[in-house]
Order: sequence, then C-alpha cells, then structure tokens
Amino acid sequence: MNMTGIVYRPPYEANSLLLQVTMGCSHNACSFCYMYPDVPFRICPMEEVEADIEEAARCCPGVRRVFLEHGDAFVLSADRLIKISGAVHRLLPKVETIAMYASIQNIRSKTDEELRQLRAAGIHGLDIGVESGLDAALTCMNKGHTSEEAREQLLRLTKAGIDYSFNVILGCAGAGLWKENADATAELINAVQPHLLFTGSLHAEPGCRLYHDMKSGAFRECTIGQLLDEQERLIGHLELKDTYYFGSHPSNLVPMQGRLPDQKQEMIRAVQETREHLRAHLDEYPVRGGEGSVLNR
Ligand code: SF4
Repeated sequence: MNMTGIVYRPPYEANSLLLQVTMGCSHNACSFCYMYPDVPFRICPMEEVEADIEEAARCCPGVRRVFLEHGDAFVLSADRLIKISGAVHRLLPKVETIAMYASIQNIRSKTDEELRQLRAAGIHGLDIGVESGLDAALTCMNKGHTSEEAREQLLRLTKAGIDYSFNVILGCAGAGLWKENADATAELINAVQPHLLFTGSLHAEPGCRLYHDMKSGAFRECTIGQLLDEQERLIGHLELKDTYYFGSHPSNLVPMQGRLPDQKQEMIRAVQETREHLRAHLDEYPVRGGEGSVLNR
C-alpha cells in the first residue's frame, strides 16, 4: 500500500486496513499539533485510491473495517467519500464500516441528506478532535470551531446515525482555567452523549506553536496535581447514558478504560489513588517521553 509520511491512527483502529485518501490535514493549524508540519494537504487521485484497494483485496481480503488516512479525511466531499466506499465494498466485500478522522468544520460542510447517505454507504465511527468545551481553550488551540458549533455539528451526526469518538485533551486550557475547562467540557459531552470518549493530556513537541508558548511563558501548563484535579472533576460532572471511556493514551497520568455511567465511581477512585501515590509531586510538571508518555511516575 502506498502511504506518505508518518501515519497516525487511533489505538482502537489497530486491526483496520489503513487506506490513504488525502495527505496531511486541511486545517494544519492547531497550536499543539506536530503531525503534518511539512506535508502540504492534497487529495489523492481516485486512481491511486482504487489501486490501493485492489492491492488490499489481494493481500487482506477478509478485512472488516477500513480507516481512511490522513489527518481529516472527512474533508472530502460526500460524493468522493461515497465513491471510495463503493470501491471498498466492491473489492472488499467483508468490510462492514469505514472510519476516519474528522473535524467539526468537515461535518459543517455537509448537508443532513449527505450525512444520511454517508451512513448508508457504511461510514461510521468518526474520530473527532473536539478537545474542549471551553471557547477560551478552543481559541488558544486554534481549533477553528467553538463549543456551540461542536454541539450543533455532533448532534447532526447523531441524527444521521453516525457514531463518533469525542476526543478530549486534559490540561488544554492551561493552569489558570483547568476548573472551567473540566466544567465546560463535561457540559458539552453531556449535551451530545458520544458513543466513545477518548482522553489524552496536553503535551507539546518542539516545532509546534504551543511548545514556544510554553517556553516563553505565554501558556502555563497544568501541574500534575491540576491535571489530576481536572480529570476527577470532568469525570465527576459526566452524566452519560452509555459511553465507553477510553483513557489509555500514554500521555495520561491515570491510564484507564471503562463504561460510563457504570464505572464512574471506580474511575474517580483511580484518580484519587494516583493523587495519593503522587502526593510529593503534585506541584511538579509531568516529564514527557514519546507520544507524551509520562516518565516521572
Ligand atoms: S485537525 Fe488534527 S491533524 Fe489537523 S492540525 Fe488539528 S490536530 Fe493536527
């Protein structure tokens, strides 16, 4: 399969066929992002995509799920996505769902009817970096959407029957606004009731704007104690009917997974136990390794 540059995918797409349909990210401007700095955005020609699907049909004909690459493949028009879905289902008849990264702007550019057609074409399980429900944090991260826009577009997806992962970045509002961030993010999550909630914690790599803002003092990172407080407050405020919480990203101080609401108290206890375990380090900052993994526990 042809694939350009580093390929990112959600952890739960480990068994999916990765199919490149775009290169880079059409937004490519989030302040914390270092994924595609040197990859100019482009749409892959349909002939290239079809050649890759033909190759996949020869090497892995039993595949059941396809994940479209790169950074926001849902930017493609509904027509193009339906064409890709048609080729996937024709050549890989066992495929049940087609997932991809999507932004709030990508959803906004499609009509309700197009969203319904996309669901009927097997597109299900979008992975969306909403990051926060607090407008101050969204502006600081340059996400290109507000909390209200996210609410409106995510509800449109639900109406069309498309499941998605609501991705959150703990600590993204910084040290001064962690409480407000937890409250506003929980409120947005409760309003849209996502199928999946994916949490990571803020970290910045050299080369992204946020890294320079942290170095210059323009952005004040949360301490270990504040990250734990924010996570506990967020989970405590969640009122969900049936959502899987996937918080096992290596950037998190408390890796955890579970179903909400059933395991809410268990999750809160896990955060409290970690706070107790790290009580001598609560005013320090987490030391990060690859993928933002926490090194100083
Ligand atoms: S939308 Fe995703 S890939 Fe694009 S700049 Fe933001 S975080 Fe990076």
